[in-house]
Amino acid sequence: MLGSRPLRVACIGAGYVGGPTMAVIASKTSPDAVQIQVLDISEERIAAWNSDRLPLYEPGLTELVFGSRGRNLHFSTAIEDGIKWADLIFVAVNTPTKECGIGAGSAADLTYVELAARQIAAAADTPKIVVEKSTVPIRTAEALGAILEACGRTSFEILSNPEFLAEGTAVRDLCEPDRVLIGGNLETDSGRRAVETLTELYAHWVPRERILATNVWSSELSKLVANAFLAQRVSSINSISALCELSGAEIDEVARAVGLDARIGPHFLKCSVGFGGSCFQKDILNLVYLCESFGLNTVADYWRSVIAINDWQKQRFTARILHGLYNTATNKKIAILGFAFKKDTGDTRESAAIDVCGNLLQECAKLSIYDPKVPAEQIWTDLTRRCRRTRDELAHYVTLAESAEEAAMNSHAIVILTEWDEFRTLDYAKVYKGMCRPAFLFDGRSICDMKALSQIGFVCYAIGSPVDS
Ligand code: NAD
Repeated sequence: MLGSRPLRVACIGAGYVGGPTMAVIASKTSPDAVQIQVLDISEERIAAWNSDRLPLYEPGLTELVFGSRGRNLHFSTAIEDGIKWADLIFVAVNTPTKECGIGAGSAADLTYVELAARQIAAAADTPKIVVEKSTVPIRTAEALGAILEACGRTSFEILSNPEFLAEGTAVRDLCEPDRVLIGGNLETDSGRRAVETLTELYAHWVPRERILATNVWSSELSKLVANAFLAQRVSSINSISALCELSGAEIDEVARAVGLDARIGPHFLKCSVGFGGSCFQKDILNLVYLCESFGLNTVADYWRSVIAINDWQKQRFTARILHGLYNTATNKKIAILGFAFKKDTGDTRESAAIDVCGNLLQECAKLSIYDPKVPAEQIWTDLTRRCRRTRDELAHYVTLAESAEEAAMNSHAIVILTEWDEFRTLDYAKVYKGMCRPAFLFDGRSICDMKALSQIGFVCYAIGSPVDS
């Protein structure tokens, strides 16, 4: 509440972060206390948010949106009006890795953040709290502040409030966050008031002891560091998976034994074909760029190696598939199970599947791809971009299947690239009957029971398990 009326919250960016975050805030507050406008330049995305078919898949999200939409949650492309109306504006736009100019390949592209700031500066005529939700390099708030203040009509308080949700568990992560981080100018009264306003918004459902206030720069950097640490654990266990395959140790046994040490803990120690998603690689690259700008080249090299291991893991897995298939995949049908970068999302950004499929297509394999949630159009977009081939050119080599069984029919090999639960419980004995002989299974997520599959007749390879040949 702001005096006698609800707090007016706008969010610029209705993507994987903006949409779910606002839906959770709406579900945790009453219309008398908080009203929310989610704004985006994409008419298609806003139309989808206003339809029966949301633009992204996230467990539990549909129910939340349907429960609040039209009540205290509104989706719109009327950005200027939304900005004028709001007291507090989240900026949750994309911050991809820069593709051109100085910093290309590692620095964050802040074009969208700057555009959002300019939109706010052009429309705002009453004081606003502007909240950086996007993941940004340290001191982005400074640039944001300069753009906003230049409008000269009103005042702004800038906060950093990075998002720690993970796709696939976004609703749960938002409802029960480990912590909420708010960076603000704690030296001034207006800065402290802004921090308190945002704290009160979260305090509708987050215990206050989990809401952490820091200075803006610590908050901005903490997000990059958190993602870098998570990715580093994945690369650490993946690096050991290669050693396991050669030495007779089992990666899952090693991970369990190591993770039981309370100082280390069990999370993010699952070996795989490699991490993906829109954030890990880009945020590490961002960190690398920051380190290099400050002349910390050894630190930059350290973090760059996390990505190098990830790239190597994808190459290593593809090489293993080829080796298993007697060093030729030409015209062999390979069933690809999973295309999303992880289970419970339809997101394919930086998915390991794109690289592994691209490598196999380079070897002239014929792929039959099945993913329960990734839209067909997205798979075609990813593969045409990765292979630099038109859809027509690829159509001879790629088909999309409606089920795992259909993908595997008449194939030489199954390759598991996403850990969807349905691939754990697939009736592999039935699937085996429809496959060529020998029937191979390459498990890039280490989710299948290799002994049971071997008994069925599969020739198996699980990443991180000892390899015989
Ligand atoms: P996204 O690409 O899904 O969504 C961004 C949205 O912003 C798009 O719909 C785009 O049309 C819109 N947009 C861009 N510029 C705009 C403008 N000027 N005005 C209005 N709309 C605009 O991105 P995302 O995955 O939601 O990520 C957003 C930010 O959050 C990024 O900085 C990302 O690093 C960070 N983040 C993402 C995740 C995740 O799991 N996806 C988790 C934590 C943090």
